[in-house]
Amino acid sequence: MRRRSTLAALAVPLLLAAPPAAAATARFDFYDRGPYRDAVPRPSAVLGYAPGAFHTTWGGLERYLDAVLRAAPDRVRREPYGRTVEARERALVILSSPENLARLDAIRAGNARLADPRGVPPAEAARLVRDLPATVWLNYSIHGDESASFESLMQTVYQLAAGEDSTTRAILERCVVLVNAAHNPDGHERFVTWINAHGKGDPEPWAIEQQRRQPWGITGRYTHYQFDPNRDALAMSQPESRQMARAVRRWRPQVFVDHHGQTASFFFPPTAPPTNRQLWDGSFARWSEAFGRANAEAFDRYGWNYYVRDVFDAHATGYWDMWPTLMGAIGMTFETDGGGTMALRRDDETVVTLLDGIARHAVATMTTLETTARLRAERLADFAAFARASVTPAPDGARSIVLDAGPDPGRAAALAENLLHAGVEVRWVPEAFALRAARAMWEDGPTAPLPADPKALAARPARVGSPPPAPARAGARAFPHGAFVVDLAQPGGRIARAILEHDRSIDSAFARRQLEKYERNVRRGKRTPGEHYEFYDLTAWMLPAAYGVPAFATAEATPAGRLLAAPDPDGLDEGRDEIPDSLATGIPFTARASRWDGLVLRDADGAIAFDGRGGVDGGEARTAYVWSSADHGAGRLALRLLQEDFKVAASPEPLVAGGREWPRGSFIARVERNPAALHARVARLARLSGVRVRAVHSAWIERGTTGVGSEAVRSLRRPRIAVAVDAPVSPEAYGSLWFLFERRLGVRFTAVRVQDLAGIELDRYNVVVFPDGGPGLAGRLGAGGIGALKDWVARGGTLLCLDDAAEFPALKEVGLSSARVVGVPHRDKEKDAKADDAPPDSAALEAERRPELVPGSIFWASVDPRHFLGWGFGAPRVPVPVWGRTFLTPSREGANPLRFDRAPLTLDGWTWPETERRLAGTAYAVDEPNGRGHVVMIAGPPALRGFWRNTERLVTNALLYAPAMR
Ligand SMILES: [Zn+2]
Repeated sequence: MRRRSTLAALAVPLLLAAPPAAAATARFDFYDRGPYRDAVPRPSAVLGYAPGAFHTTWGGLERYLDAVLRAAPDRVRREPYGRTVEARERALVILSSPENLARLDAIRAGNARLADPRGVPPAEAARLVRDLPATVWLNYSIHGDESASFESLMQTVYQLAAGEDSTTRAILERCVVLVNAAHNPDGHERFVTWINAHGKGDPEPWAIEQQRRQPWGITGRYTHYQFDPNRDALAMSQPESRQMARAVRRWRPQVFVDHHGQTASFFFPPTAPPTNRQLWDGSFARWSEAFGRANAEAFDRYGWNYYVRDVFDAHATGYWDMWPTLMGAIGMTFETDGGGTMALRRDDETVVTLLDGIARHAVATMTTLETTARLRAERLADFAAFARASVTPAPDGARSIVLDAGPDPGRAAALAENLLHAGVEVRWVPEAFALRAARAMWEDGPTAPLPADPKALAARPARVGSPPPAPARAGARAFPHGAFVVDLAQPGGRIARAILEHDRSIDSAFARRQLEKYERNVRRGKRTPGEHYEFYDLTAWMLPAAYGVPAFATAEATPAGRLLAAPDPDGLDEGRDEIPDSLATGIPFTARASRWDGLVLRDADGAIAFDGRGGVDGGEARTAYVWSSADHGAGRLALRLLQEDFKVAASPEPLVAGGREWPRGSFIARVERNPAALHARVARLARLSGVRVRAVHSAWIERGTTGVGSEAVRSLRRPRIAVAVDAPVSPEAYGSLWFLFERRLGVRFTAVRVQDLAGIELDRYNVVVFPDGGPGLAGRLGAGGIGALKDWVARGGTLLCLDDAAEFPALKEVGLSSARVVGVPHRDKEKDAKADDAPPDSAALEAERRPELVPGSIFWASVDPRHFLGWGFGAPRVPVPVWGRTFLTPSREGANPLRFDRAPLTLDGWTWPETERRLAGTAYAVDEPNGRGHVVMIAGPPALRGFWRNTERLVTNALLYAPAMR
């Protein structure tokens, strides 16, 4: 990692200077640090089994923690901070000396002063650095099936509550230790219930208890909604993440350790390349080295293996060790071997047990606490220095990022809410203002049509550690509808830059290594396995593009506006938004409240600063209610009304109503065709969906041809949705839709196993969704399932295939689309023989090779505004998420409403020299009419991880419009 040379000298005093001395290998014992206080029970005394003998349930953990709280009230406190979706109460177990516990409020206040040094005199900061204990957050069980993490939590709590040795006492005096019990208890409980019923310590690689063999839907890694909690620190979409973020903001820890465990050997930092650009200033590298060296020395004592600087990086911002790091902590991931199973056989036949995993985590944790205690003052001083740098204006002159509320205030507010949860200060400026020089951060720039022959496109040079592209020219810009403003010189400034800005900077040695692998991969023989690229996760996550909110960087001052407060993660502005079933059954669905985001944002005093609640303009309608398809909540409002059996229609042409023009796809609820309850229900749901609805009192139109009474207007259908689950659908892809439908849209659906689709009564549904699954879907469905689906589509069903499931309709044995998958030729024996003779780097070989994996990048897709999938976007090109190797040639018989047909194609993220050339002219979205139905294919994850808010529209458009388009 670079740019640390000037600071390298400072690192010396932090490091343990001791060279490895020849000594006998020590034997590990949890309890060899004594003496211990007799009154504090060990975990086995409460649980009834030795560490590592069983996987502890949530209830078992709570019983143990209660026992410790009772036995050691002078050292232990418990602070609940939220409930999971399944209503488990999460809490911080706070361990420190009696003196520190008596002044926790002052310690938190001191951390807050260091974290936000604006107006803090240097003398006060120096005093705080001298007096405060270091705050250490130990995060456990984020991935609920990485069970050594969960078990080791109890050993750490015992050691700190009972230990009377000088090291433990020093830790308690110099640190406030926050044990998160636990991050993801819902996932852990699914896993534990399953494995305790089956696990028997058999270490065979394919024994039932092997953690990677958890049945579909159990996978304890994920939250209730099957989200990976260790990717959600970016979107902050899950209730669990928002609660965590609030607790971290409340405590502002200086050290944050996230305990995992699914590797064959232990990992601790320093991290692998690449490193996020916001962490290039040296401090992160220096501290990672200091903690890593100390852990290494402790592990060497036992002769344990470990690895550093490999696999686990610090690049993408969705990890829970990254987000606190961008707020000044030193975040670390510990991955232990052992755990998940009772025992695991490694590839050399040696066995590692759950007990081994618990022991290693316990040692790494105690060593990290010792290191923190020893370097307490240095860590606090660096934490303060990080904060001072964060509130100092950057040398590049950028002062603020302005998020335009003009095109869609609802979506801009949703982005503002995301930022507030992530600890970024945001101001709402309601009045109109203008800037002389504002630089668009992702605006669609000048484009050129692609040449007819894509081969004419020269290979684009891949970027190798290049700086961000030359900034677009700054121009005058007016914000007539107000804006959300993020000042960059603020405590959350690094996070703001990391998640809002274009970031193409990547470690150059890392980039070169990937390109060398690429060169070898494209030349390798057919039967030679490809080399794996080292991208750990996605390479682009620029939030304004994902939300579709125009964003501008400026060096000018902006009006003051009102400073917003982070929303309450558990609060609802309007009470519970119950979801009634259709009028047919009338059963209200109250289990989980659906909530549309960003509706109300408050200032620090709790007063409403931004009110995005919708409503009806123009009183009670005589003729119809109309709302724009372009609004963030428009699809939700339509779906909710349809679900309750109200009649809603949409206009395929620009609509004239109520004295104005409405874009294609705008919605109409006619008074004449609905029960009287419509008036109250539209008002209520418009408010909760953030939509301004116009009451229209006449069907007469002053101009144009399409009004609310026109024949062209299409009646929409009540959504009757089935979502495919079970392999080969991934739990994460299903989870992103589950969350979108249930929590954001308030729309009911039925989850159906892929293999059961052949046998169910498909006509109960008008939409079937494949969240992903690739060509494996065909094998799982079988000929019977494929046939049943095809007949159902022909009768009027809509089949929605997302991400790599977009390949399914194009398969020869399925035959539901004339689109083809790039690099997968429809086979022909003669040609195969020829291809085998071809030299390995020929064009023929490339035609038989899928494009190399695009690792989570952002591309520009051109939108057909006349097609229903393109309605509401209001722009000729939109950013879309691309991740994988499945790309579609355009359909010859259907429509291709989103296409990659203009250059440049890439907005952000990694691409290969071949990527733009090979994707030129391909389709991102295909609509293939079949009989009376539709097959809709989207070659990407439009609801990816809850933060691709603009492309969620592709899903809602398919649900709403496709069944109505015959
Ligand atoms: Zn993990």
